[in-house]
Amino acid sequence: MTLPARAPAFQMIAGVTIAILLANAAHAQDRGTLNPEPPPPLANPGDPDTPAKELFGRKAGPAAMEARTIGFYSKGCLAGAKALPINGKTWQVMRLSRNRNWGHPNLIAVLERLANQAPKAGWRGLLVGDMSQPRGGPMRTGHASHQVGLDADIWLTPMPAHQLTRKEREEMSATMVVAEDRLDVDSQVWTPAHVGVIRAAAKDPEVERIFVNAAIKKALCRDAGNGDRTWLHKVRPFFGHDYHFHVRIRCPADSPQCKAQEPTGNAEGCGHELDEWFTDEVLHPKPAPIPPKPKPPLHMADLPGACRQVLLAP
Ligand SMILES: [Zn+2]
Repeated sequence: MTLPARAPAFQMIAGVTIAILLANAAHAQDRGTLNPEPPPPLANPGDPDTPAKELFGRKAGPAAMEARTIGFYSKGCLAGAKALPINGKTWQVMRLSRNRNWGHPNLIAVLERLANQAPKAGWRGLLVGDMSQPRGGPMRTGHASHQVGLDADIWLTPMPAHQLTRKEREEMSATMVVAEDRLDVDSQVWTPAHVGVIRAAAKDPEVERIFVNAAIKKALCRDAGNGDRTWLHKVRPFFGHDYHFHVRIRCPADSPQCKAQEPTGNAEGCGHELDEWFTDEVLHPKPAPIPPKPKPPLHMADLPGACRQVLLAP
């Protein structure tokens, strides 16, 4: 497909097929199980050919080190991670079997702040999906990012009034808010509270980006009204993200090895800037005649050197 000059998101994913991204997006809706099988032990974990996800995906707890983000959102790891408690007054963590409710303390603080503000926006509370693994790093399933404890997925379903059982947290589905034709949000589902909770997240000074489906961005542009629209530039259209929104915070001041992402700029990104997302070739991509080779997995040698200590730490 062509890469329009005015759509940075397309440049960002150049070389990656939409099909792969859509496949990854689907993982957000994967159900969990109450009794997850731990992955079998590795025969030779020291082998440099072992994909890093197989190593990080077998760590059940955080590295006993000071909290530090190391590397980039899609190529790094996390020391001294903190867990988001699975129940708060205005949040609940979903898919507990995945053990992905870990983050840098700054991310925990942002989520607690947002959960606290959500009811003021008409949103009862947050259902929190994947954050990072206990030591960050690549994951055996799902996301390419979420590696450094600065990303969190929040369901586009408000928290129910009751405390969910463990089974409900594994099996419940988030709400699809995009209409069937993918051109806009589903007016039967979309509410002012959806705008309110995303706006509250975007207004947090620690939050640098929020990823949503293009149809959601379009709706936010329309529903933001004539008041303060300065938060819209942080909300970026992306594939998937039709059941959840993805909050990404900036590099923490305590983490000199955290690699920052390019700033978003201040443009709202509304109107014609969204047109490319609604073209037929993006909405209904044709399968490539020759299926692209899957990207090789990351190995320890691809990650910052300090990630070895994170992996080896008690
Ligand atoms: Zn995400």
